Amino acid sequence: MPPTEVPCPRHPETVTALRCSRCEAPICPRCSIQTPVGARCRECARVVRSPVYTLGASHIARAFGAAIVGGAVMGLVWAFVLLPFTFGFLAIFIGAGLGWAFTRLVDLATGRKRGPITIAAASLGIVLAWGVLLLFIEPRVALYGLVAVGIGIYLAYANLR
Ligand SMILES: [Zn+2]
Ligand SMILES: [Zn+2]
Repeated sequence: MPPTEVPCPRHPETVTALRCSRCEAPICPRCSIQTPVGARCRECARVVRSPVYTLGASHIARAFGAAIVGGAVMGLVWAFVLLPFTFGFLAIFIGAGLGWAFTRLVDLATGRKRGPITIAAASLGIVLAWGVLLLFIEPRVALYGLVAVGIGIYLAYANLR
């Protein structure tokens, strides 16, 4: 027997047959959140996400600490070893390297946490690496590096969200 259609508690103008897979509360497509265990209401989706998406103060400190140290080191490597790769399509490799390196770094620092804070830490590290590069080369030349920065941040976002 299909579930009966009732108004969504959050959006009374919408009728829905969808139920939260945990608490059975009616949810409409607008307020349902897809989780590995089915569609859930907002509160219950938070329960599913909590272990990986909840960061304590020590995780946050370690994520940003690792990103700052990593950014400084990567910036030096970029300026002195990888500079020739900054230009043209080779920037893709620098970008991929930055995205991978900072995803791994934040993974190690937080024990594989995910979410906006880890993305912010990785992005900060990548921007910082470019900032260090800026200390050693002409700003006009360093601008080319922003392509790699963009690719790196996009990849970190894709891996850590
Ligand atoms: Zn629920
Ligand atoms: Zn709704």
